[in-house]
Amino acid sequence: MSTRCVIIIGSGSAGLTAAIYAARANLSPLLFEGPLTGGQLSLTTMVENYPGFPDGIMGPELMELTKRQALRFGTEILSKFVTRCDLSRRPFRVESEKTSFEAEAVILATGASSRMLGLPAEKILLGHGVSTCATCDGFFFKEKEIIVVGGGDSAMEEAIFLTKFAKKVSVIHRRDKLRASKIMQERAFKNPKIELIWDSVVEDILDPASQKVTTVKLKHVKTGKVTAKLCEGVFLAIGHEPNTQLFQGQIELDPKGYIVTKERTQTSRPGVFACGDCVDHIYKQAITAAGMGCMAAMDAEKFLEANSMSP
Ligand code: NAP
Repeated sequence: MSTRCVIIIGSGSAGLTAAIYAARANLSPLLFEGPLTGGQLSLTTMVENYPGFPDGIMGPELMELTKRQALRFGTEILSKFVTRCDLSRRPFRVESEKTSFEAEAVILATGASSRMLGLPAEKILLGHGVSTCATCDGFFFKEKEIIVVGGGDSAMEEAIFLTKFAKKVSVIHRRDKLRASKIMQERAFKNPKIELIWDSVVEDILDPASQKVTTVKLKHVKTGKVTAKLCEGVFLAIGHEPNTQLFQGQIELDPKGYIVTKERTQTSRPGVFACGDCVDHIYKQAITAAGMGCMAAMDAEKFLEANSMSP
């Protein structure tokens, strides 16, 4: 088995940008696409805030173009996901479907996944009225009635943002107290388009058969009473979970599972770098992930050079 210079795990904005930079630095990177080719952007529709596209670009198309750019400079892309990795010593070992690969540097770009409610209907209606990203999809709900699920800062932020478009935004929270910071709560309470529905959970979303959202069934957690609420959009803002289970016990993670970077993009293990949403729980934007991907590749290149492992 030949040892590579760099293996990149993840094919979202961060991973593919790292690949472009690593490939252009002559490091012949090997990239594992993972379970969601193109990362979270491949689940969105129109992206209007990525610089360089004044008329917007569809998320999947943006990722397809970025992938082509990574391929153009010689990235080897495997449509597989990593099942195990050993980051305890160099060369680092990455396994996929019983095949092992080795590299002197690894870039982790495994992203984060939106927490979901776990309802069968939400999977079918994702992208058809159910969304996990107000910034991406809010524009499509002009003058519509929508709901936001969650009681944290993200839910408040999304609800406030969505009032720019929607006729009315109902925030559904499972308790009678918000988790959000006081300032965000106050902003939400002051907004005349926002209504809070307390002690309630979404029990079902209709109507998968017609491929659009028409109604949500809400269950009051204290009384058990189920009511139907008409709405055309459901925004889930119940948190994110970083996709870092593979690295647990191998590199430092914070209490929520995000990768801790020590010096720029380097993790607690020299030679292992991390970028994008598996590190960042604050900005969570395509452009910031791309920026970090670039940084991780440059840091990996410097690391290989300093350790006389450049090609
Ligand atoms: P979060 O603080 O973890 O809040 C998640 C919310 O979703 C909580 O209210 C939780 O309810 C609810 N929830 C979780 N699972 C649920 C389920 N299965 N069904 C129904 N509700 C569920 O996540 P976040 O709001 O994404 O914020 C993450 C971090 O980013 C926080 O530290 C936050 O302060 C920060 N942030 C800051 C800003 C800002 O300052 N502008 C904006 C966004 C995010 P419970 O309350 O009952 O647990």
